Amino acid sequence: MSDPDHTLWQNTSSEHVDADPLSEDITVDLAIIGGGYTGCSAALHAAQTGASVCLLEAHQIGHGGSGRNVGLVNAGLWLPPDEIRAHLGQIAGDRLIELLGKAPSDVFRLIEEHGIDCEPVRNGTLHCAHSAAGFRDLQTRHRQLSASGAPVELLSAETAGQRTGSASFHGALLDPRAGTIQPLAYVRGLARAAIAAGAQVFEQSPVRSMHQVDGVWSLSTQGGTIRAKSVIQATNAYHAGLQESAPDYVPVYYFQYATAPLSDNLRASILPSGEGCWDTGLIMTSFRMDQSGRLIIGGMGDLKRPGRMAHVGWLRRKLAELYPQLSDQPFVEGWHGRIAMTSDHIPKITRIGPNALSAHGFSGRGIGPGTVFGRQMAASLLNDDLTELPVSEVSEYHEKWTGLRRAYFETGAALTHLIKARF
Ligand SMILES: Cc1cc2nc3c(=O)[nH]c(=O)nc-3n(C[C@H](O)[C@H](O)[C@H](O)COP(=O)(O)OP(=O)(O)OC[C@H]3O[C@@H](n4cnc5c(N)ncnc54)[C@H](O)[C@@H]3O)c2cc1C
Repeated sequence: MSDPDHTLWQNTSSEHVDADPLSEDITVDLAIIGGGYTGCSAALHAAQTGASVCLLEAHQIGHGGSGRNVGLVNAGLWLPPDEIRAHLGQIAGDRLIELLGKAPSDVFRLIEEHGIDCEPVRNGTLHCAHSAAGFRDLQTRHRQLSASGAPVELLSAETAGQRTGSASFHGALLDPRAGTIQPLAYVRGLARAAIAAGAQVFEQSPVRSMHQVDGVWSLSTQGGTIRAKSVIQATNAYHAGLQESAPDYVPVYYFQYATAPLSDNLRASILPSGEGCWDTGLIMTSFRMDQSGRLIIGGMGDLKRPGRMAHVGWLRRKLAELYPQLSDQPFVEGWHGRIAMTSDHIPKITRIGPNALSAHGFSGRGIGPGTVFGRQMAASLLNDDLTELPVSEVSEYHEKWTGLRRAYFETGAALTHLIKARF
């Protein structure tokens, strides 16, 4: 088996960051822990205001979810708008819906402004109905999203078939605001842009401890210490060390496999307009093409656990079911990543100390939201204005039964995949 921490995106990214580890003591306005979308967006936007900024990444930029994901740049959250309002209240809900509805525009604008070479395709995403019940769910989403002003379109089974090139679906919801990217190249491009704007970025620099004395934070790494007025912790599901500020979430694994680049003939029959797709299944499936014509298909599961054989067997069968013409296409790369899920699927901002905020719980939807949360957290801390935050900050956040719920998701996915691979 190939290493599930080695991704296709590492092979195909034409963006690169080469940052040294921290090797001296530095004083800055804002210190950022974690080099994913949230941290890199915070670093870029803060540096653009003229603030002095330092970002510390334990491994390489994009080591976490930002370098492993599907690359669907979605608008909004998993939840339909009415559920967001039910959780947050009308005013805060409307504000978050509006902010995240514009998130794909923010992402594609940053890509253009900074010339980020990350295979951007803004032809929309398709949420595909895997059953009649799935289509009813899409009808509800369509009604709520349209009422909130989103330009979404409900597609019949026939039109969904033409757009996906698959006869498997009962219909689909097209969101033209969304699109796809090469996810690792995007985060590397954000880091490159942050450095160009004046941010100091250090890789291989895990923060081992952090404390505040007399209004100044001190962040220690093996090679040096950062002193900063404000801190953003952007470590999400890949948080390591720093037990006192560890985010609480349910870890859910998601894996993907990629074919080799398809022939022009095959390519023309699959997703001819290049939308990114996922389905309405509880144990969901995603699929998309990359720039070179590889089909990348994924599902829920941890490739380092015993359920791996069931997951991979199911994926082969699923690919043949969606696209019979690909039934004997070998997979050339497979990998997985950890998602930080919260019970209500709404990301959290936690106050981890004076002038220190942590964001986590993007629940599998972090390209747009991470970009927006990072930007807004940086603005909030630099302007000393908590109203700039996309969600109100809380002093602590706890999830119940995280170990049990992780086992429930993994076992449920493995059993579902085992049954579906056989029958
Ligand atoms: C398999 C998968 C598929 C997904 N698909 C999609 C999708 O299609 N669309 C979408 O919008 N979202 C998707 N997501 C979610 C999205 O990838 C994440 O929400 C997003 O990447 C989170 O970004 P982040 O910057 O908050 O965290 P991360 O990208 O996880 O970055 C956190 C970083 O913090 C670093 N770190 C941790 N501890 C320390 C420390 N002590 N010191 C220094 N650095 C530290 C880590 O090394 C890591 O690089 C998916 C996630 C996964 C795993």
